[in-house]
Amino acid sequence: MPSFFLDAHHHPINSDLGEVYVRFVDHNHATKKMHLLSEGLHPWRVSADREINKKVFTAMVNNEHFRQKKIYAIGETGLDFFWANKNHIPMECMLEVFEWHLDYALSNSLPVVVHMVRGPDKTLEVIKNFPKLKFFFHDFRSPEKFVKDFLKFDALFSFGTSLFYPQAFEKGHHVIKLIPPEKVFFESDDSTELSVIQMVKAYSGMTGISVEDLSFLMNRTFQKFFLINNDFFEF
Ligand SMILES: [Zn+2]
Repeated sequence: MPSFFLDAHHHPINSDLGEVYVRFVDHNHATKKMHLLSEGLHPWRVSADREINKKVFTAMVNNEHFRQKKIYAIGETGLDFFWANKNHIPMECMLEVFEWHLDYALSNSLPVVVHMVRGPDKTLEVIKNFPKLKFFFHDFRSPEKFVKDFLKFDALFSFGTSLFYPQAFEKGHHVIKLIPPEKVFFESDDSTELSVIQMVKAYSGMTGISVEDLSFLMNRTFQKFFLINNDFFEF
């Protein structure tokens, strides 16, 4: 059995939503190491005031992590139609903030962690203008018919809570089967109860690929995709 599992998208308790960590958990679900950080102006933190967004985004890309290149990606960022409608955030604001991240990523050769809730066609429309970027789609929930369009990008796909909600179970399983196993990741996101180990085991059952092989594949792919050197993987 592998000695640790990769949790590809995690927000520690009490941390700001803008900080996303990649962590390694052992068989007892304990965190072994949590040192890969990505930062973004989370869609839930986008304001209806453009000037505030500009200020927060500018401060972020000038913070120590960005200046010292201590982040492996930028984000999460993206479009959340559910949140925008519920909280009366104009979609133009979310869209503009999303594009700031994409522009920054392009000029600084950084992959982008994407949050997408509803409106996959709109997300596709935006990212089509950035064909050179690498994308990490966290909590991927696209309907089946758009999956092939997302697969055209240099992208990885992470599954988590939505895959294991009973009502989304069948739908999620259908979508995950359309993604090649070397592009599939699992995440706990902001949940303390979800276990990536359970997810890897469930996925192993679906694909017939052993837990060991999946764990190895995920670590290797992640490292290659994000151009992370070996130091990050030593314990
Ligand atoms: Zn998140």
